[in-house]
Amino acid sequence: MAHDEHGRTAVVATCTSCGAKETIPFKANNVPKVAVTKKFGQRGWQFSKDAAAATCSACNSPKKEVMPPNSSSNVAHKAQRTMFTLLEEHFDPDAGTYDEGWSDSKVAKKTGLSEKHVADVRESAFGSLRDPVFDQLRADISAVKAKLDDELNAATAMIREAKSAADREIRRINEALTKAAAR
Ligand SMILES: [Zn+2]
Repeated sequence: MAHDEHGRTAVVATCTSCGAKETIPFKANNVPKVAVTKKFGQRGWQFSKDAAAATCSACNSPKKEVMPPNSSSNVAHKAQRTMFTLLEEHFDPDAGTYDEGWSDSKVAKKTGLSEKHVADVRESAFGSLRDPVFDQLRADISAVKAKLDDELNAATAMIREAKSAADREIRRINEALTKAAAR
């Protein structure tokens, strides 16, 4: 016999199998053992004859059955697996792009999962999707760079041409000077 937190007479049973405790309060102070075991029995407890061993309702209830193959949980797991397979096949984590014609929305449709869920998993397990706006900006920058390179090349060619023309002119003058001096 003991008292619970409300000061009532209470009996605490401890499961000899898993150690779970359950407290049942009783109004009377001298509760016969049979009344105690009966009350606990109503809550799924079982006692040995001498009440030395007690097992709780969880330990007495039959083990949970393994999920049948077509249970909703298995369907969900299968969808997850399909999603991972599709992401592996059609998403390039380095480039941050899907194969042509693929998207979060298409993976969602193929698996029956929500697009938000696909996006979350793709984001955390595979990587971010590159924003097409950045692609456009990057393309613009490349175009400007290419144009600049062309102009720079043209200018360099002009300078080289001018320099070799000057070199030729200097060589011609030097030859004329040498001829004049030899005269
Ligand atoms: Zn137990």
